[in-house]
Amino acid sequence: MKVIELVDVYKIYRTAYYEVHALDGVSMEVEAGEFVAIMGPSGSGKSTLLNMIGCLDKPTKGEVIINGVKTSGLSDRELTKLRRDSIGFIFQQYNLIPTLTALENVELPMIFRGVARAERERRAKELLKVVGIEELADRRPREMSGGQQQRVAIARALANNPKILLCDEPTGNLDTKSGRQVMGILKNLNEENGVTVVLVTHDPSLSEYADRVIRIRDGKVVEDVY
Ligand code: ADP
Ligand code: ADP
Repeated sequence: MKVIELVDVYKIYRTAYYEVHALDGVSMEVEAGEFVAIMGPSGSGKSTLLNMIGCLDKPTKGEVIINGVKTSGLSDRELTKLRRDSIGFIFQQYNLIPTLTALENVELPMIFRGVARAERERRAKELLKVVGIEELADRRPREMSGGQQQRVAIARALANNPKILLCDEPTGNLDTKSGRQVMGILKNLNEENGVTVVLVTHDPSLSEYADRVIRIRDGKVVEDVY
């Protein structure tokens, strides 16, 4: 089953002085259960592409289809629901709420979805266990290492049980060892739970975790190999 489909997607950023053609006719399909790495140099359009797939921004032209649903026809409200129910996001900067504990950060998406407190706590604890940091449930982000914070972010991304995980340079701020641990968790989620992973990176050493590598350059797909 195709979970992600892009059909001739263009993205042009327009400012008062110039235009940037960030994506220049990108088409691709991702099947459920794939682990895809999107690679390319800085400025090639990787983050823009991930933002299109994650419906965080709309293409200038072309179609993004998630789980068979054409997103161009959806209202903002429907897009928010699609994102919340189907997609988990992981960023280089973790994006945790500094005033909340690890447990509370993981509970947050479930609060937005209206999950009852007891169930929320139970699931958040279970997810912290999945990423191997259940003993850090009461720590705040500043009391954790980068690797630990990224694990909290992964647990949070899994809170609503998404079928798709989108990861933008998830190991970009981590040392080699912590980075490998984080990649190992993503690989495990992919293999054991069937989560589709799309990873954006400029780090060639991460391609070994993927079963497919898509290379982009100047907003175009230049290679797509399994
Ligand atoms: P990458 O993730 O591969 O580094 P990006 O998708 O961030 O590439 O950027 C692709 C191109 O689009 C770059 O030239 C970048 O400067 C430009 N760009 C990205 N976001 C914006 C924006 N919001 N406004 C204007 N230009 C942008
Ligand atoms: P990991 O590689 O497991 O992500 P590190 O090797 O970076 O973690 O950190 C080792 C230990 O040091 C961890 O158990 C963590 O609790 C502690 N630690 C690291 N950074 C910080 C920090 N900024 N504040 C508090 N404790 C930290």
